[in-house]
Amino acid sequence: MRNIDTIVVHHSVTDKYNKDIWAVSVEGVDYVPGLYFGGKEYKGNYHHLIYWDGEVKSPVPEDRYTYHCGVYDINLESIAVCCIGDYSNEQPSPAALVAAKSVIEGIQNRYSISDIYGHKELMATRCPGDWYDLNIIMEAKMKLDPAIIRKAYLAVLRREPDSDGMNYYLNLDISEAELYYQLAESSEHRTMYDNSVKYLEGGGSEYEEVMEKLYRKV
Ligand SMILES: [Zn+2]
Repeated sequence: MRNIDTIVVHHSVTDKYNKDIWAVSVEGVDYVPGLYFGGKEYKGNYHHLIYWDGEVKSPVPEDRYTYHCGVYDINLESIAVCCIGDYSNEQPSPAALVAAKSVIEGIQNRYSISDIYGHKELMATRCPGDWYDLNIIMEAKMKLDPAIIRKAYLAVLRREPDSDGMNYYLNLDISEAELYYQLAESSEHRTMYDNSVKYLEGGGSEYEEVMEKLYRKV
């Protein structure tokens, strides 16, 4: 087992929504094309990939060193954590920052880590972007967690959140009250409301039934 005492944070400068870059899944196992199979396709040199929605893929085993930071001695003793996306000018999403934090904390638990660098602290590069400050990662929090989002969907829209909606709200830096407000103002909720009003205007006997549907506790 090699000695590991350093973590280096990168960004990929690729499409942040493309999850197949540098880690493809074959039969449930993530691996980096080219890394093990000869050739010189050493573009996938990151041990842990952090996606915008908080998903993490770990295609390269930590006991293998890779050529990720341009400093040979540090490559030998470090683990590379890469935020997938171009974060030169924008900060990674709250979900990505929280995921990066938990990956870094996991590495700190497994090894005795003495240094954590942004790539640009080691050589002349913008990687992992102008936003980078380790404290931004280590203090990252999500205001909205999945349970809160699910509760709001059930209460306002009367349905489970779809994955696009879940990811959208996980990555917004808004309060729970703002979440309810946004859902109530959505076109989906307006349509529900309009339909209810039309239905109520149509007759009296169903009134209680409709009111029960509108206001029942979730
Ligand atoms: Zn880098």
